[in-house]
Amino acid sequence: MINVTKTFLPPQAEYNAILKRAWDKNWLTNRGVLVQELEDKLKNYLGVEHIIATTNGTLPLQIAIKALKLTGEIITTPFSYVASTSSIVWEGCTPVFVDIHPEYLTIDETKIEAAITTKTSAILATHVFGNPCNVEAIEIIAKKHHLKVIYDAAHCFGVTYKGQSIFNYGDISTCSFHATKVFHTGEGGALFSSSAILNDTLFYHHNFGHKGALEFQGLGINAKMSELQGAMGLAVLPYMKTIFTERKKVVDFYDKNIDFTKVRKIQLREGTIWNNSYYPVIFESENQLLIVEKELNKHQIIPRRYFYPSLNQLPYLKGRSMPISEHISSCILCLPLYFGLKLKELEFICSLI
Ligand SMILES: *Cc1c(COP(=O)(O)O)cnc(C)c1O
Repeated sequence: MINVTKTFLPPQAEYNAILKRAWDKNWLTNRGVLVQELEDKLKNYLGVEHIIATTNGTLPLQIAIKALKLTGEIITTPFSYVASTSSIVWEGCTPVFVDIHPEYLTIDETKIEAAITTKTSAILATHVFGNPCNVEAIEIIAKKHHLKVIYDAAHCFGVTYKGQSIFNYGDISTCSFHATKVFHTGEGGALFSSSAILNDTLFYHHNFGHKGALEFQGLGINAKMSELQGAMGLAVLPYMKTIFTERKKVVDFYDKNIDFTKVRKIQLREGTIWNNSYYPVIFESENQLLIVEKELNKHQIIPRRYFYPSLNQLPYLKGRSMPISEHISSCILCLPLYFGLKLKELEFICSLI
C-alpha cells in the first residue's frame, strides 16, 4: 500500500540512545533536558528567536487566540485543515471566512478589508501546503485596522520567505510536528512569537499558568511536549537534510512526468524556499478527481483529498458560500510524497493518472 505519506522513522537504536537520557534521569515530562535541547536546536536550525515546543499543533492555535485576548470575529481561510477553524470556535470566537486566491490557495488578501467589522479582532490565516500567505499585505491591513495576526504554519517546517523563517511573520505562528508532517515528534508542535513578552505569555499559558511551583501568573492549560516526543524530535532532526533532498526528488519526478494538460499545480509565492511538504494537483472537475482516485485506490495507492470540505461548510457553522475554496476543495488531490517512495512506484502512479 502506498499512502499519501509515510512517517520517517529514525533508526531505533538512535532513538533508544536518546531515550536513555530520560531513563537515566527518570524524567519524562515537565520540560526535561530533551525538550529543552530540541527547542535550542530548532531555534538554531530554523533561525527563530522564540520557540515553545508543544504536545500537538492544535493547542498552540487555541493558546495563541487566548494569549492575544481575541474576542468577536476572526477572519480566516476556508481552505485549511479543520483545526484552524475549530480552534477559533473552541475559543468562543466567530470565524469569518474570506475566500482564497485560485492559484496560491492562501487567503485572498484583497478581499480581507471588505470582511472587517467593528467586531473583528484578528486574522488567522494558513500558509497552506507550506505556501506563504501574502504576509506583507496582511501586515499592512492588520496595522491599519489594529488587528492581530496568527499564522497556522502547520505545514511550514523549513520554509523560508524572503530570506528568513516563515515562522517569523505575524504576531504568532504555530507549527505541527504530527507524524504526517515533514518534521515530526509523533504528536507535537510549536509556538513561535515576535516578542519576548508575548513568548512569556504563551509560555505560562502552555503550562497551567505556573510561575514556579506555588504561584500562578494567570490562566493556563497543559500543552507541554513530553520527553518521549522530544527524543523523537532529536532523533529525526539530523535526517532533515536527507528527508528534504529525497522529497525534492519525488516532487521533481512528478513535475516532469505528470501530464499537465488535464491537471494543474498550485503556484508558490515568489521569494519562497519551499519544503516540498505536499504534492497537490487540481483537476478540472470533481468527477475527474473521483475517476483518478478510484483507479489509484484499485492499485492500493491512497492519495488524500486535502482539504475537503471547504471549512465554511462545516456542519457546526453557518458559513457564507466561498465559491473558489469550495471549487478547489472538490477537485484537489494530494499525491503520495515521502522519503523512500521508489522510482518504480512513482512511474506507476504517473502512468495511472
Ligand atoms: C496538522 C494540522 C494542524 C493540527 O496539527 P496537530 O499536530 O495534528 O494537532 C493544524 N493546522 C493545519 C493546517 C494542519 O495541517
